[in-house]
Amino acid sequence: MSVLTRDEAQTRAQLIDVHRYTVALDLTTGDETFESRAAIQFTARAAGDTFVELKPALLRSVTLDGQPLDPHTLDQNRLALTGLTEGEHELRVDATMRYSRTGEGMHRFTDPTDGETYVYTQMFLEDVQRVFAVFDQPDLKAVFALSLTAPEGWTVLGNGIATDEGDGHWSIAPTPPISTYLVAVAAGPWHSVRTEHAGLPFGIHCRRSLAPHLDADADEILTITRACYDRYHEKFKEPYPFDSYDQAFVPEFNAGAMENPGLVTFRDEFVYRSAVTDTERQTRAMVIAHEMAHMWFGDLVTLTWWDDIWLNESFAEYMGYQTLTEATRHTDTWVAFGIDRKSWGYDADQRPSTHPVAPDPDAVPDTASAMLNFDGISYAKGASALRQLVAWLGEK
Ligand SMILES: [Zn+2]
Repeated sequence: MSVLTRDEAQTRAQLIDVHRYTVALDLTTGDETFESRAAIQFTARAAGDTFVELKPALLRSVTLDGQPLDPHTLDQNRLALTGLTEGEHELRVDATMRYSRTGEGMHRFTDPTDGETYVYTQMFLEDVQRVFAVFDQPDLKAVFALSLTAPEGWTVLGNGIATDEGDGHWSIAPTPPISTYLVAVAAGPWHSVRTEHAGLPFGIHCRRSLAPHLDADADEILTITRACYDRYHEKFKEPYPFDSYDQAFVPEFNAGAMENPGLVTFRDEFVYRSAVTDTERQTRAMVIAHEMAHMWFGDLVTLTWWDDIWLNESFAEYMGYQTLTEATRHTDTWVAFGIDRKSWGYDADQRPSTHPVAPDPDAVPDTASAMLNFDGISYAKGASALRQLVAWLGEK
């Protein structure tokens, strides 16, 4: 698949301004694939050529301003849009997409315990292309309005509040402008614990077979969530930018968690199934605090290009540890940081692959190289540097 270069991203961002994605996903068409229909409204600032990205199983049809384009012009993951005129445009793309079993794009999982099936998305860094057609780069933010058709008995979760329209149809409230890699949905017969805080719906969710274990810790998880939410409001002048806060503990997740606006996903190993140490509880609390910091820093304010992802993570890392210390029963978190996380940074720093905390922009020329500079240095050494800065200058 073609990778996106920084030069291409800059050229595209100069040419177009993306306004809105209206996306309909049908999850009722079988175990292997789902249907994806996207309408993208955008403006070209001048006449020119560009492209949209998509990794379909089958590209059914494409129209630009009502005129059909040849689906066979799809070259790897790129569909060329040539001869654009200056002004408003609407691109419509209908495709069949593959579920993944690898945690990339729309992951599908059947629980061996009870045979129930769940799907959820992981779009970072460019896996949104596995779900719908998209101008996929972090600085082309847009409103995302998603709707889903899901099997009966499923609950749908998204970045905004999801509404059950009946007959398996769900609509998700449109987002404020967000980056393409932050769009998220999760669907399945989730077990949910719902509450309200500061006038917003809060929910925690897991697969049904883990329900008793989530219920046993629901108070603890929600207490940490509320305390961090309140503390961030004291620290940041900007109110929480989204309409709800759901935390879904999902199966077979590759990372620790992902900061999708309004729908954070966590690996469901964080739903403890047996006695754990208090250090493990503190680690889970830290991840809750870290992901919530991203709602402001990462989701509301976003990097332009992937060379700046370190600041996303260093800041969330710093804020996560510091906020837990200030606002929860976990008052000793910097000790765990010193033992646990800093050694991760030291390790990475002693390898031949070491790099500055903020990589040289030339070191990240394209999406394929973005993750080569993303390790313990980006998280732990960066958070240490920020903490040192706070020691010198004060937090304000
Ligand atoms: Zn993070």
